[in-house]
Amino acid sequence: MPHELPKAYDPSAIEARWAEYWVKERLFEVPTSKIPTRGKTGQGWGTRVFCMQLPPPNVTGRLHMGHMLNHTQMDIMARWHRMRGFATEWLPGTDHAGIATQMMVERQLASEGKQRRQMGREAFVERVWEWKRHYGGAIAEQMKRVGDSVDWSREYFTMDENLSRAVREVFVRLYEEGLIYRGKYIVNWCPGCLTAISDLEVIHEETPGKLYEIKYPVVGTNEFITVATTRPETMLGDTAVAVNPRDGRYTHLHGKRVMLPLMEREIPIILDELAQPEFGTGAVKVTPAHDPNDFQAGLRHNLPQIDIMDETAHMNQNAGPYAGLDRFEARERVVADLQQRGLLAGMKDYVVPVGKCDRSKDIVEPRLSTQWFMAMTKQGKNGEPSLAARAREVVERGEVRFTPENYKTIYLHWMENIHDWCVSRQLWWGHRIPAWYCGEHQHITVARETPAKCETCGSTNLTQESDVLDTWFSSGLLPFTSLGWPERTRDQEIFYPSTLLITAYEILFFWVARMIMFGCHFMRDHKQDASIKQASGFADRADDSVPFREVYIHALVRDAERQKMSKTKGNVIDPIEIIGKYGTDATRFTLAAMASPGTDIAFNPARTEGYRAFANKIWNAARFIFMNMERAPHNNPTLGKTGQGWGTPQTLEDRWILSRFHRTAREVNEALQTYRFDEAAHRVYTFFWGDFCDWYIELSKLRLNAEEPEVAQTALAVLTSIFDGALRMLSPFMPFITEELWYALYGGKPPLKSIALAAFPEHDDALISDNLETEMSVLQDLIVSVRQIRHDLKVEPKVSAPIRVFVDDGVRRLIEGNHEAVERLANVSAIAFVDSELSKVASARHTARFDVVVEYEKKVDAAAERARLEKDLAKMEAEQANARRQLANEQFLAKAPEKVVEGLRKRAAELEVLLEKARSAIGALG
Ligand SMILES: [Zn+2]
Ligand SMILES: [Zn+2]
Repeated sequence: MPHELPKAYDPSAIEARWAEYWVKERLFEVPTSKIPTRGKTGQGWGTRVFCMQLPPPNVTGRLHMGHMLNHTQMDIMARWHRMRGFATEWLPGTDHAGIATQMMVERQLASEGKQRRQMGREAFVERVWEWKRHYGGAIAEQMKRVGDSVDWSREYFTMDENLSRAVREVFVRLYEEGLIYRGKYIVNWCPGCLTAISDLEVIHEETPGKLYEIKYPVVGTNEFITVATTRPETMLGDTAVAVNPRDGRYTHLHGKRVMLPLMEREIPIILDELAQPEFGTGAVKVTPAHDPNDFQAGLRHNLPQIDIMDETAHMNQNAGPYAGLDRFEARERVVADLQQRGLLAGMKDYVVPVGKCDRSKDIVEPRLSTQWFMAMTKQGKNGEPSLAARAREVVERGEVRFTPENYKTIYLHWMENIHDWCVSRQLWWGHRIPAWYCGEHQHITVARETPAKCETCGSTNLTQESDVLDTWFSSGLLPFTSLGWPERTRDQEIFYPSTLLITAYEILFFWVARMIMFGCHFMRDHKQDASIKQASGFADRADDSVPFREVYIHALVRDAERQKMSKTKGNVIDPIEIIGKYGTDATRFTLAAMASPGTDIAFNPARTEGYRAFANKIWNAARFIFMNMERAPHNNPTLGKTGQGWGTPQTLEDRWILSRFHRTAREVNEALQTYRFDEAAHRVYTFFWGDFCDWYIELSKLRLNAEEPEVAQTALAVLTSIFDGALRMLSPFMPFITEELWYALYGGKPPLKSIALAAFPEHDDALISDNLETEMSVLQDLIVSVRQIRHDLKVEPKVSAPIRVFVDDGVRRLIEGNHEAVERLANVSAIAFVDSELSKVASARHTARFDVVVEYEKKVDAAAERARLEKDLAKMEAEQANARRQLANEQFLAKAPEKVVEGLRKRAAELEVLLEKARSAIGALG
């Protein structure tokens, strides 16, 4: 006996309950104890493996629409694979998120009147941990609530002890291999956050500014060299002026020096390609400590590097009389002083590409500092390819594949132009760099554990490096550190490389590229269990060092007007709010259905409302089916074996719904195989709502109400088993309502603990029939036509009217065989077959397969009828013209698939007939 369902579908009541149940029952865990040892695969849980890493959300995070899309797609893939018998491991975790978390806690401190620096490092870090214990679990709770089928038994935090140990191991190994080094470098410095930030964290904005032209007197002459700059204050740190050796204007000045104005310091004129004769005067100032290109030129010419600013972007003692000034005050003073001395040759408006800190929006200052770097293009000691070369090669060879494919080009282009990665950050929250300096000589000791003495001089006076590692350093290691690395574990043999990564474009370089680099380096000797690899469909991939085999880059979620969501615009849609209103299932379904490849999603809550109605439709279908099961308890079919034991199909509609079901299963499986979430969602939707609810249930009512119990029982058997299969097919998209209804279908005792563990429908080609579906579509057309005519003629719903049809013999037999269905669904009292076309009759409907007329004496509104017919006629004429044009186009004929051309010819022939009929019907109206 099925459970009785409440009359109204209320997602909030259902969803929280199942979310809790799935976690409590540990349904999605793949415990190590269940993992077969080598050589025994193929037992228990099967050898096909599907593994996925979660882009770890920040511990400070809250679920936003981008996550919701990402998580929906990941969960669909996880559930779909699990239901198809893959051992499915989806690893959850959170990222400690250096800057973001530190800033959040600092803000909290500020509201208490406290400051990080007053507290000291240890107390502050403890405070962050405390914050994490209190608030850090919010995002994981949200993931549980939206139904993410992750393995919570393997949840990690990137600062967990075992992961931190792995980070130190990686750092030490790279240092020993000469791939991590300490160096002076121009970095992007944020004077607000007081830290170096990566190129990727700098946003460039075109900002109105000024271009200043400054005259530098050439020593021993009356000449000047004029240089241009948008940041005149940096001239205080100039150590040369460069001209191009090819530039004839300056040949006579080669080897001379200029007097740097304001600082009264002599600096050389150097010959360098940095100066381009085509631009301005062709001479440029060189400030190695404050510009990345000048820095490189400085290295080429051995120029001094004069740092004129402190970490807060105020001038320091190297700026002479300007010391103490903020950089923008200094700019004004410098310009005024130059003007006073007659050395300002020009000043004009100019659009300056200003780099700003992604977080604090401060203007980034290129700054010379000592940082830790990871070498990207340096070969290994034994000539092994560099990190970047390996990461490029595996993508070129297709060991890692991108969908959509164009991301491969973007990735490769980036890898070819890569710079060394500055991995140190001036923060307190994060993995502190495992390097120690001795007080005597500043020797560096890099070690896995805190060393007792300096490895060079033996001094015990050691201080640990205060910088921490970039957050992406530890998250880049997750594909193997989350599986127990540096130990070699059975987990790694099974789940590494993971199968699929679904992520956003914005972290392609931050994260995806780094994972590939780290994976290819540290897992270079790794071999995946051969039988698992083969069974999982990757026998053709040679390289097992890559962190994942497939990468799917998802779109952006924008608002309904296709605007990017932003707090400042106030157009941010909160998924939790949408879920509260329409339910998680409807929200998930919206995101899946709108995810067409390569196109951003214009999220419109109206769509979600529509899918809420879809869920409601399914709910009502279930209520109808359960009511019938209760009414005939002794005739109940035995369910028990999901996916099997279909009631034997008896009628056209039974065979038709089976054909539709199997066709849909095929289409959904094919679509998901190629990440066509939209296509898959669309197919399930059309089947469930259209074929099953609108047609099949209506058709089955005849038999469910039949006098003979066997007829009713068979009908119920097919109906319930199709319903069972349809629920399973929908389950990855709408896990909550399908779980609820599946449990109810089995009276609270389903054969498995969850529909998520039941089999996903696989199609059977033998049950798919084009002919059957065509026959059924003729009946559907006929029923819809009669309904339409009745509507036009304003026939009262309670009046049953006779119809006349003109058809060929085949269709006549079809209609005769299913006359009860036509009568019931189209409210027809009798069907008469006639020998001639019905085109002369007003209000007749014509299709290529039949003409039909409803006998109803009410006067026809000739004018309205004519208008309708003429509208149809015009539409068909346009279609015909279009078809003719295409069929006459040789290019089209050469390119289009045969099936398409064939279909077009057929349609053109049909149109001939239909147009003729429509014209004579108009004539008949007089
Ligand atoms: Zn900043
Ligand atoms: Zn030392």
